[in-house]
Amino acid sequence: MIKKKLGILGGGQLGMFICQAARKYKINTVVFSSSAKFSAKEFCDSFFIGNFNDELTLKKFIDSCDFVTIETENIPKKILKEIEYKKKLIPSAFIIEIAQNRLKEKKFLNSIDGINTVKYKEISSFNDLKISLEEFGNKGILKSCEMGYDGKGQHIIDSKNIDDFREINFKKYILEEIIDFKKEISVIVCCTKKKIITYPPVENFHTKSILRETTYPAKISEKVNNNSIIISKKIARELKLEGILAVEMFLLKNDEILINELAPRPHNSGHWTIDYCKFSQFENLILSIFQGFVKEPNPITNCKMINVIGNEYKKKDDFKKRFKFYDYFKDEIKDSRKMGHYTLKN
Ligand code: ADP
Ligand code: MG
Repeated sequence: MIKKKLGILGGGQLGMFICQAARKYKINTVVFSSSAKFSAKEFCDSFFIGNFNDELTLKKFIDSCDFVTIETENIPKKILKEIEYKKKLIPSAFIIEIAQNRLKEKKFLNSIDGINTVKYKEISSFNDLKISLEEFGNKGILKSCEMGYDGKGQHIIDSKNIDDFREINFKKYILEEIIDFKKEISVIVCCTKKKIITYPPVENFHTKSILRETTYPAKISEKVNNNSIIISKKIARELKLEGILAVEMFLLKNDEILINELAPRPHNSGHWTIDYCKFSQFENLILSIFQGFVKEPNPITNCKMINVIGNEYKKKDDFKKRFKFYDYFKDEIKDSRKMGHYTLKN
């Protein structure tokens, strides 16, 4: 039997974990990475180094695999189309295009019956910003529509610092109302055409807009638990999802759920599933692509996942001794960069 090959756009830690899961199921992987030193390098079967303007390398990558998946939604639309024309892209270009643009994403989510997001405004000029900020009580978060992650491209704006934003190029921004949420939770959905499974909601704690800690299970009422799963399945169905999708949510003080954002790929808040579920988010992604079915995750025990950020990485030997530590093999330590994570029973 000729082995099927999975192409992965991006070779960071998510790509690395996808490669590891693929190996378990004897699937070959080929990574397209923009940098020569990347987390997945030792775990993939082959790779191409190039950027998205490098047409020839990209063509070789596409020709070399049978299916393509992603570890980031920030991929030019033209390239998504090109891949989808030749190969099966999971998740679809339609889904990735929604998730890569905050404005599209918010419009899509609010168009679904029973699904809501925070209040937001499209911002195309400084005047838009001024008017919208007043509407939101002189406080808001300005977010670039595209290319943001870990809080990058976001600015908290109020009446004191608004003038600093006069000169900004406002082509692609939204302003969001700042909400005083009770908790942040997320649900991961994985689908084939026939079956849909969900990982139970987990609680996410962020510092400086970067995920710090995920706890399973989320301490929420049964009603909120069920509601978060129903909502996530509904979104997956509307998207005709095949593959995996993480749904980030804000839980308000009155237990109402607002959707924050969607990630159509494995998610940092699902890393606990590697150690503490029968089937991890990465395994279910592989199963959804290659086997046409997905498996119930079956969590084993209460647990926590903690990100190792920036200089904390220097304590990795200590983390290794005490926890299940995962090294992302980054080329250098940077402030605010996720360098690894560890998990523990809770
Ligand atoms: P990213 O793509 O960087 O993850 P998010 O929109 O998820 O962007 O923002 C990162 C974090 O910032 C959120 O998880 C939340 O903690 C905080 N945040 C984002 N938007 C809001 C908001 N409208 N109100 C309050 N907190 C917010
Ligand atoms: Mg987020």
